[in-house]
Amino acid sequence: MAYDWIIAHDSRHEKPYRMECLRCGETMDVKTPVSIKDYAKIADAFTEKHKNCKETIDTDWAFFPTCPYCGYEDEDYSGFDNDGDTVECECPNCEKEYMATMHLDVNFSSEKKDEK
Ligand SMILES: [Zn+2]
Ligand SMILES: [Zn+2]
Repeated sequence: MAYDWIIAHDSRHEKPYRMECLRCGETMDVKTPVSIKDYAKIADAFTEKHKNCKETIDTDWAFFPTCPYCGYEDEDYSGFDNDGDTVECECPNCEKEYMATMHLDVNFSSEKKDEK
């Protein structure tokens, strides 16, 4: 596989066919039995989602609000007006929500929103 942080466990693993991204830590269990064809499709989708995962995501003092999940920098920060504004952002890349705070001069930091 082209991305060495994206692991597809084979059928001998205790969680057969589990997909794992070593960078963001997300795992996905594939329901078995699964056909090779379906599994390839699932693996492709998982790879597509995680191929841009960065090793460590630096969300502080970024030029743009930065998604703490996937590292995507959102250049559209129209929801911010004043220094210290904290705005709920939805990442256009991975569709997760996070909170970002604007520091006027102009930097952003963001943190993961509490997951239920
Ligand atoms: Zn990932
Ligand atoms: Zn994201």
